[in-house]
Amino acid sequence: MDPPRFVIEASEAESMAKESGLSVLQLLPSLVKPAQKLARPPISKFHVGAVGLGSDGRIFFGVNLEFPGLPLHQSVHAEQFLVTNLAVHGEPILRYIAVSAAPCGHCRQFLQELRNASDIQILITSSENESEESAIFKPLSSILPNPFGPNDLLDKETPLLLEPHHKGLSLLSKTIDLNCSNLCNGVCELYTNNEAKLKVAALEAANNSHAPYGGCPSGVALMDCQGKIYTGSYMESAAYNPSLGPVQAALVAYVASGGGGGYDRIVAAVLMEKEGAVVRQEDTARLLLKMVSPKLTSNIDVNG
Ligand SMILES: [Zn+2]
Repeated sequence: MDPPRFVIEASEAESMAKESGLSVLQLLPSLVKPAQKLARPPISKFHVGAVGLGSDGRIFFGVNLEFPGLPLHQSVHAEQFLVTNLAVHGEPILRYIAVSAAPCGHCRQFLQELRNASDIQILITSSENESEESAIFKPLSSILPNPFGPNDLLDKETPLLLEPHHKGLSLLSKTIDLNCSNLCNGVCELYTNNEAKLKVAALEAANNSHAPYGGCPSGVALMDCQGKIYTGSYMESAAYNPSLGPVQAALVAYVASGGGGGYDRIVAAVLMEKEGAVVRQEDTARLLLKMVSPKLTSNIDVNG
């Protein structure tokens, strides 16, 4: 079986649409159910699928992730996964989303971090009294009027979520490794061999993070048991609580890579954040990573 895919290339999306006699936009709601199947909600068993269209014609999937043993607010919502998936694949614009259930308040708020958020068109496939065919795209502003968002706190030049962040931070000097010292199958050697690469990846992720409110960028790089690296950048919300932590973002990258499998395939992790940061990820990152992949044991390495 092919591994699950979370990105459909533009050319493939076009031929899929042509085959079904639809436009690529009309194709989105038909992909929501397949997306839902990829969700990982072991607590609620409520599978959410979100499908978005990028500016270059690529189609992106988002699903919800829940983590047993951790507080519910550590969960990743499908719309957050979708936005992170775009970020991971360098797509700067999200204009259309088809989603299986009405976006919760948390996600409506999270989406405010995108440029021209009010104009994002959303189609809810489970809409009452509407068949899939008759469901239509409606702007985010219709389900979140009078929004509070970046415009209330930032000047207009500040890059928003998915826009390039040119911080070029070199002050990021603290490295926290969570590595795999209790594994005896040669994975530790894998970590040692890839340590430098992992740190560079985590630094790059931190530099790409959207942290205009707390001013404390952070990034995480994960490595699986085959040495493949997945990175996640911290993403803040103007309303703080809907922010997505760097571990969650990296877990999205892991799941979205399609490699699939359990999180226990993750054998090493590096977090990059500012020393003395007001918004600190370290303790939460340790907790999260040890819970999702118990093979990770903490081993602090502070540089600089
Ligand atoms: Zn939500």
